[in-house]
Amino acid sequence: MGVPMVAVPRASLLLGGTRHFLQSPMNIHEYQAKELFAKYGVASPAGRVAASAAEAVAAANELGGAGLVVKAQVHAGGRGKGTFKNGFKGGVHLVNDAAQAGEIAGQMLGQTLVTHQTGPEGKLVSKVLIAKSVDIEKELYFAILFDRSNSTHSVIASTEGGMNIEEVAEKTPEKITKVVVHPTLGLQPYQCRKIAAALGLRGKLLNPAVRLFSSLWNLYLRCDCSLVEVNPLAVTTEGEVVALDAKFNFDDNALYRQKDVVAMRDTSEEDPREVAASEFGLNYIGLDGNIACLVNGAGLAMATMDIIKLHGGEPANFLDVGGGASKEQVSNAFKIILGDPNVKGILVNIFGGIMDCNVIAEGIVAAVQEVGLSLPLVVRLEGNNVEAGKKTLAESGLNVISGDDLSDAAGKIVKAIAA
Ligand code: ADP
Ligand code: MG
Repeated sequence: MGVPMVAVPRASLLLGGTRHFLQSPMNIHEYQAKELFAKYGVASPAGRVAASAAEAVAAANELGGAGLVVKAQVHAGGRGKGTFKNGFKGGVHLVNDAAQAGEIAGQMLGQTLVTHQTGPEGKLVSKVLIAKSVDIEKELYFAILFDRSNSTHSVIASTEGGMNIEEVAEKTPEKITKVVVHPTLGLQPYQCRKIAAALGLRGKLLNPAVRLFSSLWNLYLRCDCSLVEVNPLAVTTEGEVVALDAKFNFDDNALYRQKDVVAMRDTSEEDPREVAASEFGLNYIGLDGNIACLVNGAGLAMATMDIIKLHGGEPANFLDVGGGASKEQVSNAFKIILGDPNVKGILVNIFGGIMDCNVIAEGIVAAVQEVGLSLPLVVRLEGNNVEAGKKTLAESGLNVISGDDLSDAAGKIVKAIAA
């Protein structure tokens, strides 16, 4: 166990990437990715976004009215093979006229699409992309991503496109090409040619492929991406090389200088608990268990999750309030925890170095006064101003179970929930 796995771009596992993201990376929709493609000259079929069947018909007509594809817009892959909860099959459909585009869009909009990447709860489709369809001769795979093992970026490419790249890596690793990008020189033309050759893109396909790769690298760099995955990259029967799908992740640390990218954020696609936490500057990741943790410091948060598991419990979240949290932040953190219906008990584990234990105590008391508390609460406080913190809790009249150390506290909350 350790840090939650949800936050890691799956393709980065191919590079042996470590799982140490403390937040889910920011994603965008395919229709937004297409806007970036257009801006940076990455070849991709023209498309329009639509939020209703009528808009889909209008979009289809704008695009010529024939030879189109309707694609559900959710932050998850595997849409083509997905199924809607109402039984409608497939989040990607080829259509031949505008009326049909409207009809398919109507089947998708307002419905929940389940794919192998959404989990069984699926994702609500509130927009569809109408794009020009192409005649595909071959589907390839192309991605650029952070390569932590080499302290730079790398390109991963494969002749096996349109399918799960992890599976290709496992079964036929010889079909995957990896090129390490020089951190300051960037992706060089000779490297683009080498990748093209590995993908079998020769003759008249070579130049368009090289152009696409270097445009994509430019986009990746300028937009501070941590992942751009094109699956499939398609060769058409007309001899074009085009990006048919796109998955983007952005480096959170650079979002401050990516206003256009931040404007594309769709918080309805994100865990509402994480959205609330990010508004208050808290490091929070929702998990599947029932023991909520409120901890200061990422290391202590991870240790707390581990020790809960050791005692047979399951953490409901990763929550690090940080070293300098205010009473308001602590109180908001506590309210986010209490707002999660899966939470059956709370473990507060604070080691006050910079953090003042009494600020934590006051934050908890303030939150409980506002929203009440009917769940067992175990608190382990240690360090800076600990006596004042314990006094605040004692005088609040809260029913607090106090833990002597990390293990004792974890054992107590697991027991309290079982009782
Ligand atoms: P996902 O990966 O979520 O299933 P894709 O965008 O990769 O969605 O679409 C699934 C499949 O649909 C692709 O592998 C490709 O075969 C086909 N497809 C997608 N877009 C187009 C298009 N514009 N023209 C023709 N076929 C397409
Ligand atoms: Mg795809």
